[in-house]
Amino acid sequence: MTDSTGLKNRGKTKADVEDRRKAAEEYTGTELKTVSNYGFDPELASTNIENMIGTVQIPLGYAGPIKIEGDCASGEYLVPLATTEGALVASISRGMSVMNASGGVRTTVVSDFMTRAPVLKVNGIQHGKEVSSWIEAHMDALKETVAGTTSHGKLIGIDIYPDGRSLYLRCKFDTGDAMGMNMATIAAEAVCRKIEGATGAVMVSVSGNMCSDKKPAAINMITGRGKVVLAECTIPKDVVENKLHTTAYAIAETNYRKNLVGSSIAGTLGANAHAANMVAAIYIATGQDPAQVVGGSMTLTTCENIDDDLYICVRMPTVEVGTVGGGTKLPCQSEALNMMGCLGQGKAKKLAEIVAATVLAGELSTLAAQSAGELGKAHQALGR
Ligand code: NAP
Repeated sequence: MTDSTGLKNRGKTKADVEDRRKAAEEYTGTELKTVSNYGFDPELASTNIENMIGTVQIPLGYAGPIKIEGDCASGEYLVPLATTEGALVASISRGMSVMNASGGVRTTVVSDFMTRAPVLKVNGIQHGKEVSSWIEAHMDALKETVAGTTSHGKLIGIDIYPDGRSLYLRCKFDTGDAMGMNMATIAAEAVCRKIEGATGAVMVSVSGNMCSDKKPAAINMITGRGKVVLAECTIPKDVVENKLHTTAYAIAETNYRKNLVGSSIAGTLGANAHAANMVAAIYIATGQDPAQVVGGSMTLTTCENIDDDLYICVRMPTVEVGTVGGGTKLPCQSEALNMMGCLGQGKAKKLAEIVAATVLAGELSTLAAQSAGELGKAHQALGR
């Protein structure tokens, strides 16, 4: 068998995939009958994967419709969810039905930029100061440099973090409707080459980990990365009691002791019941980068008892989604985006708001189940 860097493994046609799969079957002594059973032209995935041998199928369901009154999403949406976790879709659907009965969800995108933070090597503190001054004085030229690498991406600004002989440049980009990591990486490298030429600083890595991509990070929680999104709903007392079989007081107390205090003692970044569950299921269904579920996991869920009505809100500081590029162009993923009218140009913020509304539904349902002592029962019935 040719090793994974061999030329044989670079082919992208259906025949190449078949040859490679047969070689893998022979090498591992494993029949890959189901893996080979897929319904799209593998050339469509040519920029998404190397050494393709087939696909893994994940069950796809829907939750909703959910009623959203947002700045970018407005209407009723069926949300596609890809998961193998029994009870998850049912729980999200229950949350949506409760929120619909309460007038729907209000959503907004507070800010929107993608980051890439190269690390440069400088001679010391003084040289670092000189390089920083040069960057500040030449911001327009650096914006032009970025414009030469992408037609949709724009450099918004650079936050500079000096440390002795290292200089971290947290470059912030408007990436249009793309999640933007490839775009930002290519643009940040071009920015660094320009700085190197003028200042003698040397780029050590295009990512100095202050981006921070695919790692839970306080910098993303505080300043945002991708889209910062809020979703809120007020559930009237009678809806809490009749549909969730609990009270606003009990849900707010569960949220306080579990999500706020418990998370604080555990030292989690973000404080929520299971935001990553909803984020993972939507991201996989719609071709987002699944590793960026990490960002979604930093959601903050708050609940208040307001005269026996329940106010619930999620603040998502790191929703890294796109409606063009990456995995969104694969056929199943495109169809899933289309279900919500979220494919293509001008749709990324709308998708981010639907993600937040879905997270809110899942948080509500799980907090209610825990406050009513019903969580174990539901998983016993649906997940086993
Ligand atoms: P991309 O597919 O690399 O780039 C988006 C493409 O869509 C660009 O060619 C852009 O053209 C074009 N485009 C067309 N209409 C657009 C619109 N309305 N808004 C924005 N762009 C538009 O996607 P990406 O989002 O930059 O990168 C996503 C991929 O990066 C994912 O597959 C993810 O897994 C991967 N990733 C990469 C890194 C990394 O470090 N490189 C890290 C994490 C994830 P123009 O550029 O000419 O505007």
